[in-house]
Amino acid sequence: MICENCNEEIKQSYGSNRFCCQKCARSFATKFKRKEINEKVSKKLSGRTRRPKHSVNNVENNFLRINLKLDIVKMLVKIFRKFFITITINETKM
Ligand SMILES: [Zn+2]
Repeated sequence: MICENCNEEIKQSYGSNRFCCQKCARSFATKFKRKEINEKVSKKLSGRTRRPKHSVNNVENNFLRINLKLDIVKMLVKIFRKFFITITINETKM
């Protein structure tokens, strides 16, 4: 077996045969964590540059506005229908 941290042959194993010594096991863990943290940070940063937060909010706002307009149109159509129906009923009565 070879140490995952320093790539030297393991004589006395630490951390389930993955490292030659406790120091390597520890440093590998911190290295791995650091890499993970860096990846997370870079992902956050790249995400920010690709898709700014305010533009997403704008899209959401536009979507809400469109939905609101549709609701208003639907309401108006309902009102007009009712109005039209009452007129036709009155006309037929006459
Ligand atoms: Zn080692």
